[in-house]
Amino acid sequence: MDKLINDLQANLEELKIAGNYRSLAHAVQEGRYLLKQGECMLNLSSNDYLGLAADHALYAEFLHNAPPEHLIPSSSSSRLLTGNHPVFDELEVALARLYGTQSALVFNSGYDANTGILPAFAQRGDLILADKLVHASLIDGMRLSQAHWFRFKHNNLTHLTRLLQSNAANYRRIIIVTESIFSMDGDEAPLRDIVQLKRQYPHVLLYVDEAHAFGVRGPKGLGCAEEAGVLPDIDLLVGTLGKAAASAGAFVACNQTLRNHLVNHMRPFIFTTALPPLVAAWSLYIVRHLPEMQGRRQRLAEITRHVHDALNRQGIQTASRSHIIPLPVGDSTQALQLAEEMQRHGFYLLPVRPPTVPEGTARLRLSLRADLVDEEVEKLIKYLSSKK
Ligand code: PMP
Repeated sequence: MDKLINDLQANLEELKIAGNYRSLAHAVQEGRYLLKQGECMLNLSSNDYLGLAADHALYAEFLHNAPPEHLIPSSSSSRLLTGNHPVFDELEVALARLYGTQSALVFNSGYDANTGILPAFAQRGDLILADKLVHASLIDGMRLSQAHWFRFKHNNLTHLTRLLQSNAANYRRIIIVTESIFSMDGDEAPLRDIVQLKRQYPHVLLYVDEAHAFGVRGPKGLGCAEEAGVLPDIDLLVGTLGKAAASAGAFVACNQTLRNHLVNHMRPFIFTTALPPLVAAWSLYIVRHLPEMQGRRQRLAEITRHVHDALNRQGIQTASRSHIIPLPVGDSTQALQLAEEMQRHGFYLLPVRPPTVPEGTARLRLSLRADLVDEEVEKLIKYLSSKK
C-alpha cells in the first residue's frame, strides 16, 4: 500500500510540473455567472449554450405544471426491472417524433451512450472508423468493443474515403463515427459529404454524436444533421441532455430494431439504475419546448457570428465558426496562467489540457451562450483583442 501511495503521489507531482494537474474547484453557478472564492465571473465555460439552466423561471414553470407522479427523485432500479417509469416512454416517443425515427432510447449520460452503443453493435469481424478527435467516451466505446478500429485524420474526407475503399470488402460491417460539432475544437464535421460517401456502401452505418449541437442547431434544435437535411441518413444519432437541454442524460434516435438490440445487449443501459423520473420529466418538458426556442438559437448564432467577425477583424484567427471557440495556447502551464488572468478580469474560462486534448495543444475553451447581453459580449471582445 505504501508503495502504491508513493507511486501515485509521484505521478501526481509529475502532472503538477507539466501543468496538467486537475483538482475540483468550489464554484456556484448563478444564472450566467459563476461565484468562486468571493468573485463573480461571467460563466463562459459551461455547456448551457441556450441559457436554459440559468433560467430559474423556466424550472419554476415546469414544477408548477408537472403532474405530481413525475416528481419522483429516484428510480430505485434499472429500466429493465422496476425503474421504467412511463415518463421515459413519453420522452422517447417525443424524441423519435421530433427526429422522424422509429424510436429513441434514453441513457443516464452521454458517457454511458458512447461507451455502450459501440460495443453493443460492433463485433469481431466489424470495423469502426472514427474521426481522430472524437470524445473520450467514444474512444472508450471503441476500446470496449470486439471490433477493429481506426481513427481517420480529423475531418479529412480523403482519408476516410481511402480507408473505406481499402477495407470495405474485408469487413462484415463498418461504423463511421464522428461528432457533429467537436467538443474541444468547435469545428464541424462535413456531414453532407460523409453521408454521400456512406451511401455508396450498404454495409456502412453512420454514428453521429450531436452532444454540442443538440438544442443549438437546426430549425427545431435537433442538431447539425437536421440543419444539413441529412437526418434520414444518420443510423445512430446521439444527443446529450445535460448540455443545451439543461437536464441530464442522453439519447439515441434510431430504427426500432437497433433500439431493441440495445435494450438487450447494451451493458451501460442494462446494468444501471435509471435516471430519476423527475429528471426525465424535466428533459421531456425541455424537448417539447425545443422547437419553439428558435429565438434563443438565433441569439446564440448572432453572438457567435459577431464574436468571430470582431476577433477576425482584429487579426485573431478563430479555428471554428461555432459557439465553441478554442483559444490556442500550446503549453499547459501557460494555458493555466491565461485562464487565471481571464478570471481576474471577470471571465470564467478554463484551460483544456492533455489528455483531454493532444499533447502540446492546451487551450482555453470559450463557450458562448445565448443569454449574454451586448455589453458583456463587447467587453469580452475588447479583452481578447487586447491580448493578441
Ligand atoms: N459526447 C461528447 C462529444 C461530449 O463532449 C460529452 C461530454 N462533454 C459526452 C459525449 C458525454 O456526455 P455526458 O456529459 O452526458 O456524459
